[in-house]
Amino acid sequence: MTMRPVVCFVMIILVLSSCRAKHGGGALAEEAPLPPAAGPSRNQPPPAGPPAGEEKQQPALARLPPRGRNGTVIGNPAEFLAELDSVLASDTEGLLVLVDKHHSLPEGYAPADLVPLVKNNAYGISRNDLSLRAPAEAALREMALAAQKDGVSLTASSTYRSYEYQVEVYGRNVRQSGKEVADRESAQPGKSQHQLGTVVDFGSITDEFAHTKAGRWLLAHAGEYGWSLSFPEGYEDVTGYRWECWHYRFIGKGAAAFQKKWFSDIQQFMLEFLSAWKSL
Ligand SMILES: [Zn+2]
Repeated sequence: MTMRPVVCFVMIILVLSSCRAKHGGGALAEEAPLPPAAGPSRNQPPPAGPPAGEEKQQPALARLPPRGRNGTVIGNPAEFLAELDSVLASDTEGLLVLVDKHHSLPEGYAPADLVPLVKNNAYGISRNDLSLRAPAEAALREMALAAQKDGVSLTASSTYRSYEYQVEVYGRNVRQSGKEVADRESAQPGKSQHQLGTVVDFGSITDEFAHTKAGRWLLAHAGEYGWSLSFPEGYEDVTGYRWECWHYRFIGKGAAAFQKKWFSDIQQFMLEFLSAWKSL
């Protein structure tokens, strides 16, 4: 059956209209210019532009895995961006570095400001060879004194670990439990938060710690002092590690509050976002 020319013409017009709708104009838009957009009259000041950095927000979020995107709730972009600026500007100690199974520390990295943990009136130590970066030690002292006021004593059991020491720790875990089990709670050398010198494993380093006074107090209050539970319960698919109720990382008070407010209080979501943000 042959179509009459007028029918063909109508079909071509319909197809062209459909293309234009899908592709937002393109060449066709030049043939039929859009009417000028409604804008401010000459007497009105131009509207304030989007908050600085807003154009990076969506691309940074897009780099998060789906659970991270869902857990990042940015209701008020201007407020979020102002707080983001403040958190980044106040991170003069480099406390917000992303270190995980996919992000290694530079080879040979060792913090320059490690201080030994010695017997003191704020927190306990379970061995004599522990050390932390100076800002983390000061923050641990402050938090432990606050815990004391609530009748809780905190004991540091594992802190800074050098690359070489992590080789030993990881190797021992693999020998004892096999690689699959070891990888759920022991980082490979160069990928451990402990190498940052800003992490403390508290108390018994077992699941039972969660039910102790210290474990419960930390879960409720650590964030107020800038400490963050790195591997919370139910987030192994996000962090790469099973729940570790004893492992807290010092990120600073501003970042801890920022994480709680916008990132469902999940450290990994925030650090991944900051890493993406800095790379854009
Ligand atoms: Zn740990």
